Amino acid sequence: MTAGPGGYHAGMDDPGTDDRRRRVPRTDVVLADPRLADAVRRLGRDLVKSLVAAAQDRARAGEVAPESVADTVVAALPAAACGMRPVINATGVLLHTNLGRAALSPAARDALLAASGTTDVELDLRTGARGRRGRTALDALAAAVPAAQAVHVVNNNAAALVLAATALAAGREIVISRGELVEIGDGFRIPDLLTSTGARLREVGTTNRTGLADYAAAVGPDTGFVLKVHPSNFRVTGFTSAVGIAGLAGLGVTVVGDIGSGLLAPEPLLSEEPAAASWLAAGAGLVTASGDKLLGGPQCGLLLGRAEIVERLRRHPLARALRVDKLTLAALEATLRGPATPTYRFLHADPAELRDRAARLAARLRAEGIEATAVASEATVGGGGAPGVPLPSAAVALPHPLAERLRLGTPAVLARVQRERCLLDLRAVPPEDDAAVAEAVREATRAG
Ligand SMILES: *Cc1c(COP(=O)(O)O)cnc(C)c1O
Repeated sequence: MTAGPGGYHAGMDDPGTDDRRRRVPRTDVVLADPRLADAVRRLGRDLVKSLVAAAQDRARAGEVAPESVADTVVAALPAAACGMRPVINATGVLLHTNLGRAALSPAARDALLAASGTTDVELDLRTGARGRRGRTALDALAAAVPAAQAVHVVNNNAAALVLAATALAAGREIVISRGELVEIGDGFRIPDLLTSTGARLREVGTTNRTGLADYAAAVGPDTGFVLKVHPSNFRVTGFTSAVGIAGLAGLGVTVVGDIGSGLLAPEPLLSEEPAAASWLAAGAGLVTASGDKLLGGPQCGLLLGRAEIVERLRRHPLARALRVDKLTLAALEATLRGPATPTYRFLHADPAELRDRAARLAARLRAEGIEATAVASEATVGGGGAPGVPLPSAAVALPHPLAERLRLGTPAVLARVQRERCLLDLRAVPPEDDAAVAEAVREATRAG
């Protein structure tokens, strides 16, 4: 027997059972409670009614007092109609796939909201006729990469690759180095993705070394394109060699480059990460990239390249199945035109400032009797790119059991658990969230 919110303990065999059952309020009476009327407007009638029914059942079972039914429902109301919960990313992994990769900039969030009603996404308001879908977003992307003659946007980078393989190589061969047969994550592999389109893979070279002669020997009338995939989540070191885009461009066939991370222009901090502009300038006919990795935007796949190639992809029937919605286009445009993204800010955070923040946070918590220490830490870009590039960072170390309680709190805080310590790495925490982190730690300490 569970005690209800009012500590009501009566059991089914209580002589008052019938009386209690009679006293359980009717659904319309419960729903008339102003707090629940408001919840119906926010969350929808069905959801609130199902919580009322559950609370009535508990009252009938004697788990809550009949007069507490409305309170029980209010206590069970979710914060929003959507079950996805905000999480403060204190893992030190800048782009955490399980946390939805890039956090959007305030400008991109505003754009999402503005686009969520009816918009002119595919209408020319001057003429009243149909317009090019998402033209302002596409213009922003084209402006960001002048080396691209044309651009297109699909659902993600995997979709971009599928579209390229289908439109340019179905029934033909994609020539690719054995060193670039990459698993992206969660068991998904680029070679499987490519062959699912009906294209055949022509693997060349070896895991560690592939030369231009390997490609040259494989290229022929059956070649759809040569594909270069950036190893964005692993590194091969030692006795290695690979052929750059410029070398491949001399083969006389279309070169498609998957840069993965979505850097449009080179980023000095991540010298190993290719940029779309560089690969296009080196002769790639088409470059594909993710929108929600280092670009710091919404999930989408960017296709940039020569006009005739992009046009072929855009006109392919499959393009319709991979097209992005107005929300994505809005967020992408604001990411491209707007202020620095959170991802950019995290990447460029000053380590001295991170140490200051960690010291301040730890001191504040210690003053409240919480065992907290500021420690040096190492952050990483994460699944989004730059494997093996450590980013100096700072963290607040807490007793290990707090990690779970922080994860279960509101807002949830995801820490890094390392050597029996719970580390709150501040690199991917916006400074304006420090107070919320402190409050979450207090809350988690109390929960212990
Ligand atoms: C991340 C990545 C992908 C997959 O991109 P999604 O946008 O997640 O579909 C493909 N190729 C490379 C090289 C990547 O790094």
